[in-house]
Amino acid sequence: MEISGSVISNVTLHNQDYIDMLELAVGDRVAVSKRGDVIPAVERVLEKNESGNTTWRMPGYCPSCNRILIKTGAHHFCINNDCPAQIRGRLKYFVARGQMDIESLGPETLDVLIEKGWVSDVADLYTFNPEALIELPGFGDKKVKLIKDGLKKSKNKPFAAVLKSLGIPEMGPKVIELLIEAGYRDIDSMFKLADTDDTESLLSIHGIGEKTALMIIEELKRPQVRKRIENLKKEGLKFAGETGEEEDTDILPDIFKGQTWCVTGSFEHFKPRELAMEEVKKRGGRVTSNVTSKTTHLLAGQGAGNKLDRAAALNVKIVKRSEEHTSELQSH
Ligand SMILES: [Zn+2]
Repeated sequence: MEISGSVISNVTLHNQDYIDMLELAVGDRVAVSKRGDVIPAVERVLEKNESGNTTWRMPGYCPSCNRILIKTGAHHFCINNDCPAQIRGRLKYFVARGQMDIESLGPETLDVLIEKGWVSDVADLYTFNPEALIELPGFGDKKVKLIKDGLKKSKNKPFAAVLKSLGIPEMGPKVIELLIEAGYRDIDSMFKLADTDDTESLLSIHGIGEKTALMIIEELKRPQVRKRIENLKKEGLKFAGETGEEEDTDILPDIFKGQTWCVTGSFEHFKPRELAMEEVKKRGGRVTSNVTSKTTHLLAGQGAGNKLDRAAALNVKIVKRSEEHTSELQSH
């Protein structure tokens, strides 16, 4: 089938609600369009099937583990943590390109490892004995060495990549970057947010909304997630550090460690004022866009407005930077 110049082989049906709305059954003839000229979608049923098929229903049970599916919003989920399809999915996601980049662990090899019962979670990849693979057809010394090298190399992956490869819902690359930029440079500071149900601090990060904040806290509290991270940590994977592939070379003393700064007004030497926030972060501090109960310092420049009042009301230390002081920011 061809629409506006491209061949369409798959068309999205989104979810059961959408199928119900269309009253779509197997064998029906349908009208397909390209929405926004990009994504092909089934628009309506043109002609009902003659075999008497009724509206298609998604199976109520997981096709992989047979457990009942749970509907959240418009989508169905298998919530069985030991579901083979999920174990496989998690492993595949973890080793994928752009994540842990372990090319030597392709889908077929992962299947062998799962089948043998050697690996059932991502952390097991670092504890199973690759030498045992040599006995199996299709695995030689060379292949096993590549697997060992790939696993070893992955231990140098930066914190952001490790976190991303865990596939925690709502914790994609953008959110992880925002968290690290806001000063949450290690997993323990993130766990602390979860343990104290600190949605407030998450919401003060520009770009993180309520749905994401709640999901992050829920996920980081889950015992399976904690256990997984604990095991990976034991194996030497990085759970602290900067976003970049390279270690930060200009590490400054952590004089703002444990402090949360908000910056308001304008500054002669920090234009835009985000530059002042950068200086705080470089010295181990956190930054927020709003004054909250977690804020410890407010750096106030010229024309500082109602944030000053809020800071005063919350007993936040107000640091005024006078124009003649051009030296480094000082912690007060
Ligand atoms: Zn399942």
